[in-house]
Amino acid sequence: MIEVKNLCKNFGDLEVIKDVSFTIEQGDIFGIIGQSGAGKSTLLRCFNGLEDYQSGSIVALGKEVKDLNKKELQYMQKDMGMIFQNFNLLNRLTVYDNIALPLRFWKQNPKDKENADRIHELLKLVGLEDKINSKPRELSGGQKQRVAIARALVMNPKILLCDEATSALDPKITQDILALLQKINEELNITIVVVTHQMEVVKQICNKMVFLKHGKIVASGKPEELFVSSNEDILDFTGNDVD
Ligand code: ADP
Ligand code: MG
Repeated sequence: MIEVKNLCKNFGDLEVIKDVSFTIEQGDIFGIIGQSGAGKSTLLRCFNGLEDYQSGSIVALGKEVKDLNKKELQYMQKDMGMIFQNFNLLNRLTVYDNIALPLRFWKQNPKDKENADRIHELLKLVGLEDKINSKPRELSGGQKQRVAIARALVMNPKILLCDEATSALDPKITQDILALLQKINEELNITIVVVTHQMEVVKQICNKMVFLKHGKIVASGKPEELFVSSNEDILDFTGNDVD
């Protein structure tokens, strides 16, 4: 689904991603973990062309991201839903209209039967059918993230990118959102990329992970193999959990 090879990215003189390579396969829940400032968000934003990169390659859904023109990039972004720590909902719009935003971008009528059915189906999936006409300010953090997830799925993406999706939520709500992400992975067959500084999140739902430190991969593999007592980088990280 996404193949990253020798990727390097800098902001001016600041090298943020340093010779990073890994592959995300269909059906993965793939974790990218590291402390604040490690380069996780930047890496994720390179996947769907929100950031460019200086060298190396990212082949996403069979195409080199940096070679895409504007229109091709929009189609790529349609295939990659994205959710964030702060939900990024529009406060003046209802839950229904927030979920419908990508449909409007793609010049579709969100009130068409097909689209209305789709939105109802997604509201059911995320468990918010009773909040269809609510505004974001009337929702809890967990409910807002559920709306953001429904919006990220409305164009039927193949990949869901999650940037610190549970970092603003308390532990119980985090569990609920992780269970929902697992359900989406299994039932809708959507590949998920989870960027987080929270070890528990990766341990719980990811089948593969890379550990990023100052822009470099210092460990990669299956979480159950990496979170063992002999791994110094992970131990160091455990001792210094930040944010
Ligand atoms: P993480 O998500 O792991 O916390 P980021 O990818 O946000 O890390 O940031 C990695 C580094 O890149 C940080 O040092 C950050 O200050 C820097 N950075 C991020 N975005 C920009 C930008 N648009 N311009 C300049 N520096 C940036
Ligand atoms: Mg970040």
